[in-house]
Amino acid sequence: APRAPQGTRKTRPRVTQCTEPLSIVFCAAEVAPWSKTGGLGDVMGALPQALAARGHRVTVVTARHTNGGADVARYDGAEGHAPAPRAASALAPCNALTPSPAAAAQVVPGGPLHIELGGGRQAVELHRLEADGVEWLFVDHPVFQRPGTPYGDANGPFEDNLFRFALLSLAALEAPLRIAASGGRSLGDDVTFIANDWHAALLPVFLRSRYQEGGAYRGATCALAIHNLAHQGVFPSHAFNGLSLPGGTYGLLEWRPPPGPGEDPNNHREATLNVLKGGVECADSLITVSQNYALEITSSPQPQGIHTLLAQRRALLRGIVNGIDTREWDPSSDPLIPANYSAQDLAGKAACKRALQRELRLEPDPRAPLVGFVGRLDHQKGPDLVLESLPALAALGCQVVMLGSGAPDYEAALQEATKTYGFFFRAVVGFSVPLAHRLMAGCDILLMPSRFEPCGLNQLYAMRYGTVPVAHATGGLADTIDDVSAFDGGEEGTGWTFSPATLDALAGAVAAAVRCYRSSPAAWGAVVRRGMAADHSWEGAAEQYEKVLLGAKERRLAAAV
Ligand code: ADP
Repeated sequence: APRAPQGTRKTRPRVTQCTEPLSIVFCAAEVAPWSKTGGLGDVMGALPQALAARGHRVTVVTARHTNGGADVARYDGAEGHAPAPRAASALAPCNALTPSPAAAAQVVPGGPLHIELGGGRQAVELHRLEADGVEWLFVDHPVFQRPGTPYGDANGPFEDNLFRFALLSLAALEAPLRIAASGGRSLGDDVTFIANDWHAALLPVFLRSRYQEGGAYRGATCALAIHNLAHQGVFPSHAFNGLSLPGGTYGLLEWRPPPGPGEDPNNHREATLNVLKGGVECADSLITVSQNYALEITSSPQPQGIHTLLAQRRALLRGIVNGIDTREWDPSSDPLIPANYSAQDLAGKAACKRALQRELRLEPDPRAPLVGFVGRLDHQKGPDLVLESLPALAALGCQVVMLGSGAPDYEAALQEATKTYGFFFRAVVGFSVPLAHRLMAGCDILLMPSRFEPCGLNQLYAMRYGTVPVAHATGGLADTIDDVSAFDGGEEGTGWTFSPATLDALAGAVAAAVRCYRSSPAAWGAVVRRGMAADHSWEGAAEQYEKVLLGAKERRLAAAV
């Protein structure tokens, strides 16, 4: 089956149809289940389907990452419940999963596309797959056939990432033309492109300068979706020469980072090329993944990075909280967890906790609050804060489990902590979607001390699995978790939030959650059930995307008159 776990998917409920169907083309570096290092992959696997369900014609263009031939299905998606504890080395060697799109996708006829880039003509082949009402296109070129993640390997980011992602962006612009020319459905001239993150941010720049100024795609618009402003695609300014862009567009991409705190305010640094900035300048609309993050990235007290430009373009920016794939993440039917359950009958959740304790060789104590962390081991996610809080969590009688991969220093620190705190703590260094599911089901509390978090998906998965989030009140975490302690009487709220992101604040919030957990099973059960009842499906978010896209199209039409 091309899309795991398709066999278990329920039929989609009937969705309101849009009266003005759009031809939408997404471009993204990762798309689950074919590739995923984080939330972007999840979003790209689910949002296109939700828009297609509303009646839009949707195509997704991504790279055909062949990941050095690694058979990823071995560790991801195909292994079922895997009750035995596994050593870190048995997990993924990298953060990408790629169940070989070639197996199911067909090469688009007509020979390779020829794309002008980097001073030459690049031949790329398109592989096409139709599934879940969406056309998925995989761009095949030798630069995507590497061991590692879609972005880099143990030595850091790939040196030719600018070329790789410029090629992907251009392929997304060429693909609709080729599909139409080879007898497929024509998307017409007024395609709505959605470029995701810096990897696709050259798309609106190319659209304007290489297509629209030459008369193609006249009615087309491009939205830029920012999933994480921390990654902007910054390169030396001379790299511009490799982009085959008209010289006049250099200013759109040029960026002089402002001086840091404490530095001479007149001392602007050397000019660089900032790909995301080019996208922000050229896009017809801007989307980010929560309202609070939209506010944060336009109202930074220090005029840092591209915040100032975003503030100037604030009227075009909308914050839309991500949805979740409620078919993949459903405790009542999830095939990756040892027992299924629902809000009406939580017996299966207790069984999942027992199984997780057994799997990780923790004491099988049903009363010990089991606290989990899942995420990239990056400063953003605050894994260091979790490690520092271990003595405090031990004093509260918690058991703690962390699943993550990323920065080697953090990976080593997690392994080290397992030795020191083995009596109540386990860390699994690696990337395993099945284990992430078992953790969401088996834990009582999910800890998210992210220093910043554009949206965050894990708190949404946790709530759906009856696992109570305790999180730093930032970005999308603040938008999606109602803090129990903010309400009198304890009759509202879906989790606990804290601020600032410090050890004391974190420990205080976990202590409040544990007090509730221990002192009042009824109150705890109510928090759990409110979280499980919240609707985080994609339908609402897809409707908001649609409004933004239609608005941009109307503005373009009005400007053309
Ligand atoms: P981000 O995109 O910043 O990494 P999100 O919370 O939006 O954060 O999404 C993270 C996604 O990646 C979730 O689906 C999460 O379960 C998954 N994930 C992160 N780390 C791991 C891991 N080590 N193993 C399995 N899944 C992981």
